Amino acid sequence: MADTIRLEIVTPQSIVVDEDVQHAIAPGTLGQFGVLPGHTTFLSTLDPGSVNYKDDSGADRAVFVSGGFAEVLPNKVTVLAESAERRRDIDIDRAKSALARARERMADKGGNIDQARAEAAMARALARLKTGGQE
Ligand code: ATP
Repeated sequence: MADTIRLEIVTPQSIVVDEDVQHAIAPGTLGQFGVLPGHTTFLSTLDPGSVNYKDDSGADRAVFVSGGFAEVLPNKVTVLAESAERRRDIDIDRAKSALARARERMADKGGNIDQARAEAAMARALARLKTGGQE
C-alpha cells in the first residue's frame, strides 16, 4: 500500500492544495477526523477550521477552510470549500477586523441583523485566527 495519499483542497477560485501527504486531519461537522493511506471511503461535511497535514517531506502544514465537504477515498482526500487559505496566506489583521465587525453585528439588538450570517462570519474569523497562529 502507498505510504502517502493525495490531498486536494479546492475553492471556486483556485486549487489551494494538491499534493501527496502522509496523513490529514479535517474539521468534520460531527468531529475532527484523521485520514491515513488506505482509509475507508466516506463523505463528511466540514465546519470552519483547519485541515492539518504532514506533507511528503514530513513538514506539518495547516490550511484554513471555511467549511464545505470532504470526500475520502483510500488514496485521495478532496476538500471542497467556499474559501481556503494556507496558513502563511492568512491576513491576520483582516481576520481581526472581520471578527470585530461580526461581534458588533451580533451585539446590535436593533433587529436588522442576520444573526446566523454574523455568527458564520465570526466562526470563519475565529478559525482563521486559530489556523494563522499555528506553527
Ligand atoms: P471578510 O469579511 O474579511 O471578507 P469573510 O469571512 O467574509 O471575511 P470569505 O467570504 O470567507 O471572507 O472569503 C472571501 C475571499 O477573501 C476568499 O477568497 C478568501 O480566501 C479571502 N479572505 C477572507 N479573509 C481572509 C484573510 N483573513 N486572509 C486571507 N484571505 C482572506
